[in-house]
Amino acid sequence: AAPIADADYQRVVDEAYAKFKGVDEGANADYIPILATVPSEMFGVVIVTREGKVFSAGEMDYEFSIQSVSKPFTASLIMAEQGPRVLREKIGVEPTGLPFNSKMALEIYPERSVNPLVNAGAIAAVSLVEAKSEKERWNKVLNNIEAYAGRDLKVLKEVYTSEYESAWSNRGIANLLYNYERLYSDPEEALRVYTRQCSIGINTRDLGMMGATLANEGVNPVTGKKVLDKEDVPELLAIMASAGFYDESGEWMYRAGLPAKTGVGGGIVAVVPGKFAIATFSPPLNPAGNSVRGLMAISHIAGELGVGLYGPN
Ligand code: GLN
Repeated sequence: AAPIADADYQRVVDEAYAKFKGVDEGANADYIPILATVPSEMFGVVIVTREGKVFSAGEMDYEFSIQSVSKPFTASLIMAEQGPRVLREKIGVEPTGLPFNSKMALEIYPERSVNPLVNAGAIAAVSLVEAKSEKERWNKVLNNIEAYAGRDLKVLKEVYTSEYESAWSNRGIANLLYNYERLYSDPEEALRVYTRQCSIGINTRDLGMMGATLANEGVNPVTGKKVLDKEDVPELLAIMASAGFYDESGEWMYRAGLPAKTGVGGGIVAVVPGKFAIATFSPPLNPAGNSVRGLMAISHIAGELGVGLYGPN
């Protein structure tokens, strides 16, 4: 296929923004109380190419919590430090077909925890990071996400407090994992580091840059820093393709045909391997916990540009 012109990238981003801005389905997450207070009307759409070119429309500067969009990036840290085999053996790569906070998945498959993109596997992932202290573990997790974004990031303190004070479900998951010997640090420490990871503040452009680093075979297009070996990028994208939208992953693949990851803060990032990333921010979620406008905008762009992995393209 012919390379996509800059004007076409900008056109599809503007179109998706205009077309879905007025959609008012869905609702902010409220099981983490502070997320309910984020303005629902905010909407941002961005494409970042593997060369680092940025095409955007709407909200680019507001810092929202990364939430589960952090999960593939910490899975990448495990791959980078310990290899993809460790990720497969100590966490697993099977989609659950169940909600992101499922405990049932752990009971069905007690031999794995189940994939790194649901809460159980993500809590297990932070526990696997090689570290002698909680501080060292946390710094590695944060530095890795910063390397993907290409700038220093901070935890949104109110989000952390709100989420940690209401983390009964995730605490249950951490304890269950520990019981099954699928957690590799103290459970409460894993819960704290995981919750901090989910509370990192990013803007829409950061999310696009993180995706563009994956599109650019693991090298941040702006800083030039290598975050993941290019041999390991396909495995990571494969997990995103099969589990990035939780129990809606099949529907997502059917509609957009791209590896992606969503978060309850309203972020979504999708990757067109070797080419570019599409990222969106819009807080209202559908019942599976995926951003309604984001899902529509990215599927629209993938269709317009003909970049769905399964063709025609
Ligand atoms: N921190 C959130 C949680 O653990 C992340 C969930 C999500 O974004 N789907 O519930």
